[in-house]
Amino acid sequence: MKEDKRIFQNKRSQEEVLRELNILKKQDLDWKRGRAFSMVYYLGEEAQELSAQAYKMFMIENALNPGAFKSLKKMEKDIVYTVASLMGDPDILKGSFTSGGTESILLAVKSARDYALKKNPRIVPEMVIPLSAHPAFDKAGHYFGIKVIHAPLNEHYQVDVDKLKALVNSNTVMLVGSAPSYPHGMIDPIQKLAEFAMEKNLWLHVDACVGGMILPFMEMLGYEVPEFDFRLEGVSSMSVDLHKYGYVSKGASVVLYKNKQLKRYQYFVYGGWNGGLYGSSGILGTRSGGNIAAAWALMNYIGIEGYKEIVKTVVETTRKFIQAIQEIPELKIIGNPITTVFAFTSDKVDIYEVADELSEKGWLIDRQQNPPSLHLTVNHIHKDYVQDFIQDLKEAVKKSKQFKMAHLTNSVVKNVTKTAVKILPERVVSKITENVTKLAGGNGLPKKTAPMYGMIAQLNNQKDIEEMILDILESIDE
Ligand SMILES: *Cc1c(COP(=O)(O)O)cnc(C)c1O
Repeated sequence: MKEDKRIFQNKRSQEEVLRELNILKKQDLDWKRGRAFSMVYYLGEEAQELSAQAYKMFMIENALNPGAFKSLKKMEKDIVYTVASLMGDPDILKGSFTSGGTESILLAVKSARDYALKKNPRIVPEMVIPLSAHPAFDKAGHYFGIKVIHAPLNEHYQVDVDKLKALVNSNTVMLVGSAPSYPHGMIDPIQKLAEFAMEKNLWLHVDACVGGMILPFMEMLGYEVPEFDFRLEGVSSMSVDLHKYGYVSKGASVVLYKNKQLKRYQYFVYGGWNGGLYGSSGILGTRSGGNIAAAWALMNYIGIEGYKEIVKTVVETTRKFIQAIQEIPELKIIGNPITTVFAFTSDKVDIYEVADELSEKGWLIDRQQNPPSLHLTVNHIHKDYVQDFIQDLKEAVKKSKQFKMAHLTNSVVKNVTKTAVKILPERVVSKITENVTKLAGGNGLPKKTAPMYGMIAQLNNQKDIEEMILDILESIDE
């Protein structure tokens, strides 16, 4: 008989449900011991408890209709005003509270597109973004029918402004710079981009999803920080995530516009519905009041002085990581990152094998490509784990140099792919990549990913790689 997997099949007691949730939680990685270098940002029990209480107080309330709950409207306004005050004049800048960086970016792209179409309805919208810009922009292009053109990076891993300029044409509706980019933590030359945007009357979005709650505080603390915000006249919109370095629980970001006129393009309105006149400022319809209240509570609780202290600690912790990694002869830091995200690479060892060794020791670390590198998002929790990590990293580097069966499998897979790509028809190569998860061992995300990444490095067809990502996503969802 087929097993019934539906979770409401048997009514269960509260204790039983909570017990099972606790069991499920035990399978997860040990992020409270600093083992996650992305995904979670944590300030400790007290902050979490406050978020949870605030969330609970407003979780049933709905922020769909801005007029319905005065409480939520006020809290949203307070949050947007406060973030705007970090980026420019909060009485002129306008913005919205959103569910995350992706929504902030989708909204800014939609606004830029509609602004350009209003000026000239005949254009076929395109946008020019750095190769290192977050895929949320590619997602926006895909959703909104905008062609996305990627500008290459310079030798410092910032966007190459001259090459970006050459990609602009009369269909361009938006330029993007990151402050900083996620992959390498490098801040694009925002000032140059802003000057160019002014000159050509183009919309420039500064993606400060990761940096927006770091850079302003670094500046207050006296660190040298390049100008990246609305103080530059050419900046039209920005995205700032609160659920990253704002340490707010998930579902919290802010999108900002230079003025009220630009924000107007963000709204969606529909006047013909039987249900009444419909207007909405964001992508979501129904929105929990919980996220807004939790963000409001935590920002009040931490305060500007609190954020400064946190930023100082985390920037100094990051510098300890960077220095220790620089002292490992096989490894090299990419670019010259000044915030708290960075990447390192190697031309002496297979960096993906180093990652596999680290995974085996319980660290969650992002693998990146072009160049192959590993990524660290350092946050407050890591201050106590620099030594633990560096010790494991040194060992991982050493192990990746030793002869091992896995090593051999890895190079066999790489070589087979290399040859296959050359001699087999495209259709067959696609078939092989389809099976790569199994090749790399098991369903879903393989435990050892070095062979998979090795294989990717050999594929020159992005379509094959994308098919492979789809296969992996599907197998995780199954
Ligand atoms: C995280 C991030 C995003 C996307 O934000 P989500 O909150 O994950 O949707 C966009 N840009 C940068 C630079 C980021 O770091």
